[in-house]
Amino acid sequence: MCLPARVNEALQWFGQARKNERLAHAYLVVGSPHGDARRFVEQVLPLLLCETDARAGAACGVCSACRRVRERRHQDVIQIEPQGKSCTIPVEILRNLQHQFGQTALSGGRKIAVIWGAERLGAEAANAFLKTLEEPPPGSIFFLITPAPASVLETVRSRCQRMALSEPEIAQVPDAWQPYLDAIMDGLEPNDDKDKAAWEGLAAAHRFLALCKTIRKQIEDTEENQAGENDDQDAVTARVAARFAEQRAAALQALQLWYRDIMLAHCGADPSLFRYGERQDTVRQIAGRLGLTGIINKIAILERLHRNLESNIPDGVVVHTAFAELTAGGNYLNS
Ligand SMILES: [Zn+2]
Repeated sequence: MCLPARVNEALQWFGQARKNERLAHAYLVVGSPHGDARRFVEQVLPLLLCETDARAGAACGVCSACRRVRERRHQDVIQIEPQGKSCTIPVEILRNLQHQFGQTALSGGRKIAVIWGAERLGAEAANAFLKTLEEPPPGSIFFLITPAPASVLETVRSRCQRMALSEPEIAQVPDAWQPYLDAIMDGLEPNDDKDKAAWEGLAAAHRFLALCKTIRKQIEDTEENQAGENDDQDAVTARVAARFAEQRAAALQALQLWYRDIMLAHCGADPSLFRYGERQDTVRQIAGRLGLTGIINKIAILERLHRNLESNIPDGVVVHTAFAELTAGGNYLNS
């Protein structure tokens, strides 16, 4: 099987560490849960649990442990994923994990937990998990998977050994999103006329919501095609929600990079540093009109939008509010 170089290196490292009995209790794996990190986990679980020790860096693939891992029914592997509309990891699941890890591994060997979306651990869930992490039962290994290590709570992050399979994701948006993003950026110029600002804000909000709808539809189609026989509908729904939150964040990041360009223009940076070099004339003009405070305000609005989208406030409300503020003139917030 052809694996990316960093995944291969990581697997080699784990093969050696297993041989030398030098495994840590917790690893923060930085990589995409749909790409590198997924492939890594698929390979590292059998590597650590394989019943033969013959070859370093590879599992035998045929022993009963290897087979059970492949069929996702190994009794000493627990996989945890974000759930529900809020796309978080419920605290009960982590309390339960502590209980499960308190018991000896059924095979008498290792117990492994894989926590997908470690950035989705809220404070309460993280606290429950810290208890397990601080006094790990012998033989236990935790893999915390995240594409966004900076969003993982510091208390959790600092107790894990970091393993980077890929750089934290920066906005690489699919081509299908670009027409929506272009239309949104076209409409995001600040307006001193309040009526015009309100109108443009409404239009931009609708474009963003239309983009979200496209993103969700595409994810639903993919997940439904990939769903295995053993996946129940709740698991598929949770995966769709997790993936959607991630991709919507990437779409927002694409817009944040545009304001970053405006900030760079304000500082007189070379256009070769711009993410959207083709828009440099507009970008400079907006930078001039907003001024430093105005630009900082707009960036803060997008950051707040990101946070609010993860709250329980209806999406339509937070999107409309944010875009109305984004299209307002630079002095709007002070008036
Ligand atoms: Zn094996």
